[in-house]
Amino acid sequence: MSAVIIDGKAIASALRVEWKARAEYLKEKGMQPGLAVIIVGNNQASSIYVRNKVKACNETGIYSEVHEFSENIDECEVLKRIQELNKNSKIHGILVQLPLPRHFEDRRIIASIEAGKDVDGFHLNNIGALVTGNAVYPPCTPYGVMKMLEKSGIQIEGQNAVVVGRSNIVGKPMALMLLEKGATVTICTSKTRDLAEHTRRADILVVATGKPRMITAKMVKPGATVIDVGINRMPDGKLAGDVDFDSVKEKAGHITPVPGGVGPMTIAMLLCNTIEAAGRIQSGIEPQVNTGNNT
Ligand code: NDP
Repeated sequence: MSAVIIDGKAIASALRVEWKARAEYLKEKGMQPGLAVIIVGNNQASSIYVRNKVKACNETGIYSEVHEFSENIDECEVLKRIQELNKNSKIHGILVQLPLPRHFEDRRIIASIEAGKDVDGFHLNNIGALVTGNAVYPPCTPYGVMKMLEKSGIQIEGQNAVVVGRSNIVGKPMALMLLEKGATVTICTSKTRDLAEHTRRADILVVATGKPRMITAKMVKPGATVIDVGINRMPDGKLAGDVDFDSVKEKAGHITPVPGGVGPMTIAMLLCNTIEAAGRIQSGIEPQVNTGNNT
């Protein structure tokens, strides 16, 4: 039997209706949520992502501004701009679009963002909060995956979860969030011996490798929930995930498509974190205190 398709686009649209109402409420209280996006260089994919984020902000009632810098700009100029944005009361979230040019030190840039405005959840304070189960701004992509699982009624507690990929922005935070919800988590990497031996034991399989269609049906447990984070541009111009969707959907219980799966959820959770940041200021909650609403 064919798997249930988890429609990320539909889930994200429904969430965005909720976020819009919250943004409107905050605006009425004189605190319109505001997001600043910094982009350095001419990476085509990054420009598309930034454009989509700005469009999503506009549609949700979030004020947004884009700060563009040329490829060869000195890192100090960007650091200076971040300092200004940290002090700007119209801006509640600051996002630096990655990847940055080679001459940039990503860690230094991310560390310069005030943790309470780090709506991407990459600042060390926010990562520390995530590790200790107190996330305030969970990183948007794994946060989106958790929301998809919740909205699809997928049980996490007690399940075997396997995350393929250990990047700081997807794999590692994903594993931590699943762990926090009571899953038994395995993280696989390019160094894992016999990957299929692990993936075949997964009740929940999350794949974030950037290797098109590498997870095939024979690597999946019958009835498993398969979440495909990968976005790969193929030679024919079409997008493909890291999972061989056509074969795996015949074996899995639930599966996300690419496009239309995790991608729209990532943007929805960025909006959520930005509104959360503004809401905290409006209601006087300290930026770094977990109120139990997230994850
Ligand atoms: P990275 O390149 O930073 O990390 C890839 C990870 O996959 C690494 O940990 C690597 O292992 C692992 N890996 C690579 N090949 C294999 C293999 N054959 N077997 C097991 N593990 C493997 O990628 P990201 O995490 O940034 O992104 C992953 C994918 O997700 C990309 O396609 C990206 O475009 C997409 N993405 C999608 C988003 C969305 O909104 N849907 C958001 C962010 C990313 P090792 O560490 O050993 O090298």
